[in-house]
Amino acid sequence: LQGVNKRYQFGRLTVKALQDVGLEIEKGEFVALSGPSGSGKSTLCHILGALDRADSGQVLLNGIDMAALDDDAKADFRNQSIGFVFQQFNLVPVLSALENVLLPLQFGATVGRDSQQKAWKLLESMGLADHSSHRPDKLSGGQQQRVAIARALVTDPAIVIADEPTANLDSTNAQLIVDTLRTLNRESGTTVVFSSHDMGLVKQADRAIHLADGRIAPS
Ligand code: ATP
Ligand code: MG
Repeated sequence: LQGVNKRYQFGRLTVKALQDVGLEIEKGEFVALSGPSGSGKSTLCHILGALDRADSGQVLLNGIDMAALDDDAKADFRNQSIGFVFQQFNLVPVLSALENVLLPLQFGATVGRDSQQKAWKLLESMGLADHSSHRPDKLSGGQQQRVAIARALVTDPAIVIADEPTANLDSTNAQLIVDTLRTLNRESGTTVVFSSHDMGLVKQADRAIHLADGRIAPS
């Protein structure tokens, strides 16, 4: 990212959510984003995850200039290259754990036996082999977030962005989620960025980027 700015307009009020943000994250890094509430972590995660656009500045993801992609091309890029994990899990309540994990594969490719197997293997690796047919409301918060991570990984993304993935979890489950992301990073070389205001978790990253009032703070 270079010189990235993002504002939100609330009627006549303008909020500068990100101001002149520049950063470089290498392939295979395991990076934490920290900062107080309102400092711009989610805004930055959404831009890094190609879910939102910067107002100005340059955003290159996997070497691709996001400004050059129209919305359809950006959605394709996102489906191919990015796995996003949300604070609120964002699972579809009427679908089973397995069906939730299969969701990203429904765009484009047909869902065959291979996909089913892959989704099941991912759930198994998250310790959820016995829960694949459960709906989200039958799972604990930590289990739901592990389903959400499995869903983010089913397309083999090069980059995983997790915006406060542990904020709704107790400390044991929070640590389990960070361990899961770390294992993914080590074993698959996936680039992982997670945001958190839990400094105990932030310290476990290779590098922490601190935000304050929409700017990168010196560390
Ligand atoms: P938190 O720790 O509470 O999740 P955050 O660090 O993720 O905070 P952001 O959600 O990125 O912070 O918000 C940055 C600033 O932008 C805040 O001042 C927030 O009020 C504002 N903001 C975020 N989203 C919107 C929106 N959709 N419309 C208007 N203002 C917004
Ligand atoms: Mg946030």
